[in-house]
Amino acid sequence: MKHQGIGTQCVQGGYTPGNGEPRQIPIVQSTTFKYATSEDMGKLFDLEASGYFYTRLQNPTNDAVAAKIAELEGGTAAMLTSSGQAANLFAIFNIAGNGDHIVASNSIYGGTYNLFAVTMKRMGIDFTFVDPDCSSEELDAAFQENTKAVFGETIANPALTVLDIEKFAQAAHAHGVPLIVDNTFATPILCRPFEWGADIITHSTTKYMDGHGVAVGGCIVDSGKFDWTKYPDKFPGLTTPDESYHGITYTERFGLEGAFITKATAQLMRDLGCIQSPQNAFYLNLGLESLHVRMPRHSQNALAVAQFLSKHPKIRSVQYSGLKGDTYYDLAQKYLPDGSCGVVSFEIQGGRSAAEKFMKHLKLAAIETHVADARTCCLHPASTTHRQMNDEELKAAGISADMVRFSCGLEDAQDLIDDIDQALNA
Ligand SMILES: *Cc1c(COP(=O)(O)O)cnc(C)c1O
Repeated sequence: MKHQGIGTQCVQGGYTPGNGEPRQIPIVQSTTFKYATSEDMGKLFDLEASGYFYTRLQNPTNDAVAAKIAELEGGTAAMLTSSGQAANLFAIFNIAGNGDHIVASNSIYGGTYNLFAVTMKRMGIDFTFVDPDCSSEELDAAFQENTKAVFGETIANPALTVLDIEKFAQAAHAHGVPLIVDNTFATPILCRPFEWGADIITHSTTKYMDGHGVAVGGCIVDSGKFDWTKYPDKFPGLTTPDESYHGITYTERFGLEGAFITKATAQLMRDLGCIQSPQNAFYLNLGLESLHVRMPRHSQNALAVAQFLSKHPKIRSVQYSGLKGDTYYDLAQKYLPDGSCGVVSFEIQGGRSAAEKFMKHLKLAAIETHVADARTCCLHPASTTHRQMNDEELKAAGISADMVRFSCGLEDAQDLIDDIDQALNA
């Protein structure tokens, strides 16, 4: 069959019903699966036969939705996790442990920064954070003997920096390690990081993939391209027998296409248990069915709002990589030619109190700690997510007291602009 377009994959990928089977992916709301003999089930435990036995390890609903996301990203295998946090934890912990080191962009989601700098540090993994706009030489200098991966976000939440994926992939590969990209804000509709050299992709599916604010979830996708066997000393977990799993060597048994995800499932999901519920996977799939229709509209609305704000006398500055003149405009033209997603951030003349007043007068945009929803939502970090910081600490974190993060939904752009305009003038 001819390679299908990404819209067709969004609607029909991952699941093909047989004769008389349900048209929609069935929700297999069952923790367990029945077998005729213990021998049958034993083969599954040995990973000799494929099949289901316990939903913490695998579930047919989750597998169908993960297969759709793998298709959308152009990967060879994928798994769902209970949240985006779990996806990033698993992606890194699958190849790094006590005594290892990771190079990460410093422009990443706050929850991920905390996971890396606090919780994973306690697990014995060290991180060096680099400015995503650093030179290739500076990036090179961040690597150590024990570095196991490089990490960045395509469009960073909330800084909205755009990652130079090719630059990061080249550096990672020169040091014999994979590049992991969190593609949450771009989604595969706006950017497919594997096409630019990334090796592993993670998602918080809670954001645009769901898109309706109903289900927390995450996903990990493998490109199948990184050759772990070329660096067996660096990645013994993939290239030598796993004594906790019947002595299986993942790269031998499952090839480069399947080793990473099979290990993350058989080992990490087994032991850490961050599975997505099949019910949430079903909701996620409903979101995926319209992802290709929604992302361009989110992006068009955000560009219209950014253009309006850039000309407004009460606005000090606007950050949106799709806007001409933005610091990341050139990178966005390369990596995000079809749009820069729905999130815009801007700073209001008059400081913290002006921003607080603006938030109070919004009528259509709802105040939420969420982004990437069909309904427009808006956040003033200085008085909410970052309220424990004073103005100086905020500045150090790259956030000003008058900064507002505005996530454009799917409403009419003119209504969003009118709402912003009346709140600025109030
Ligand atoms: C929200 C988010 C996460 C965390 O995802 P959860 O689903 O909330 O756990 C990770 N990365 C990025 C870029 C995010 O926006």
